[in-house]
Amino acid sequence: MSNRETKTDVILIGAGVMSATLGTLLKELVPDWNITVFEKLGKAGEESSNEWNNAGTGHAALCELNYTVEKPDGSVDISKAIQINEQFQVSMQFWSYLVNSKLIKDPKDFIRSLPHMSLVQGEENVTFLKKRFKALSDNPLFEGMEFSENPAKLMEWIPLVMQDRSWNEPIAATKIDSGTDVNFGALTRMLFEHLESKNVEINYNHSVKDLKRTNDGQWELKVQNGNGTVERHTAKFVFVGGGGGSLHLLQKSGIPEGKHIGGFPVSGIFMVCNNPDVVELHNAKVYGKAKVGAPPMSVPHLDTRYIDNKKSLLFGPFAGFSPKFLKTGSMLDLVTSVKSHNLLTMLSAGAKEMALTKYLIQQVLLSKEQRMEELREFIPGANSEDWDLVVAGQRVQVIKDTEAGGKGTLQFGTEVITAADGSIAALLGASPGASTAVQVMLEVMKKCFPQHVDEWEPKIREMIPSYGASLMENPELLRDIHASTAKALALKTEKELAYH
Ligand SMILES: Cc1cc2nc3c(=O)[nH]c(=O)nc-3n(C[C@H](O)[C@H](O)[C@H](O)COP(=O)(O)OP(=O)(O)OC[C@H]3O[C@@H](n4cnc5c(N)ncnc54)[C@H](O)[C@@H]3O)c2cc1C
Repeated sequence: MSNRETKTDVILIGAGVMSATLGTLLKELVPDWNITVFEKLGKAGEESSNEWNNAGTGHAALCELNYTVEKPDGSVDISKAIQINEQFQVSMQFWSYLVNSKLIKDPKDFIRSLPHMSLVQGEENVTFLKKRFKALSDNPLFEGMEFSENPAKLMEWIPLVMQDRSWNEPIAATKIDSGTDVNFGALTRMLFEHLESKNVEINYNHSVKDLKRTNDGQWELKVQNGNGTVERHTAKFVFVGGGGGSLHLLQKSGIPEGKHIGGFPVSGIFMVCNNPDVVELHNAKVYGKAKVGAPPMSVPHLDTRYIDNKKSLLFGPFAGFSPKFLKTGSMLDLVTSVKSHNLLTMLSAGAKEMALTKYLIQQVLLSKEQRMEELREFIPGANSEDWDLVVAGQRVQVIKDTEAGGKGTLQFGTEVITAADGSIAALLGASPGASTAVQVMLEVMKKCFPQHVDEWEPKIREMIPSYGASLMENPELLRDIHASTAKALALKTEKELAYH
């Protein structure tokens, strides 16, 4: 056993976008706090935050149909879309602050303007999309959204999707040019480089094996280093930002708030286009409608992506099943996450989620040609030779007991679990995910450092001018923020969008 022992103010477990965001916020607010990071892999942003492991959509509910549901009276509920859009504006403001303060050099290295579109087929779906468009386009957050069911217009917007298409069903789309493609892997790496320059100690190849509360209310971590020896590190505050690895660590912490919670992993698989001529024909993120029984994160989409300054085209995600909680995790992850306190919760979820189980089995058994058939719903003339499969990240969906859903309810959102004394926080779940990292980390700070939040507020406002305000209710502020974030992040400005 190694003798290395340290004491610090803050420990961040995991070098993904969540720890990167929390570390950067804290360094701006309290530069003299000592922060230490432990990451089990050799680099930052290698798991879900990596550009090839997620879809890179700046989720602002501009195109994702699962954020707007049809109510029994036929109207469309846009409250979730509003919430997600507002949260994304918080990320955009913080990222702009980082660029304006030169903490990030070139915004093009991680964010680009890209139209976001929703595309549906069939009478019923077209009616729904029209209603959704009407409900959203009245709201200042979604200004600039267009709707069309005119084939000539759609051909102009998405030639690759419209060419070779037979006209036996109505088809319609919405388009909004203020959407974004975000390289969360690049962003994560940039933030960790910045943190390193601010004397944050980042320990790669260090895996956190256990954590326990000390008699004086701090946390002692057992960490295995690259040589296989175990070190002990103590901190006043710990953030468990281990992505899929967080549930096991939360369970090890023994806090009562972490009990009766389970996790179920769903892998993502994308098809990537290897034909540059096909890639050139498309320039948008086009989201469709989820199939019956499919979980909301499996909504199919055809995405232009910008990775390493190269334009790519991806389609998916298809769902896969692996019992691992991280892409680099263990086959025992699912089994070892079942404890006496969450057994009933897990069993209830198993009994309730038969449609999901059936859907996953069907997805796992799909051949490449069957996947191509799903792709041909988007690109009718797609050629099998032009497409390869890539395995993306693992999403561990949270299972917990809720008042509304009862025992063992599958959650599709993000859950922040904190100890009553605020000395530890863990992030579970992965949706809307990296796009809302800033809002979620602000919530962690509010819950864990209530005694500091008032004193931090002026600096938070400098970084996020809309902090605490509803942008939807302040259209002037929203306009200012759209203009200032577009300028800082070198995105299309309102003027360019209007001209377009
Ligand atoms: C298929 C797919 C598509 C997605 N698409 C989008 C999208 O389009 N837009 C969006 O906003 N979000 C998307 N997401 C979600 C987004 O990727 C995640 O929410 C986000 O990356 C999570 O960041 P994180 O920092 O919590 O976790 P990660 O990025 O997974 O980082 C966790 C880190 O912790 C480390 N770790 C784990 N356990 C330990 C341990 N015991 N000791 C030390 N280190 C440990 C891991 O090695 C890893 O580096 C998608 C996710 C998936 C899987």
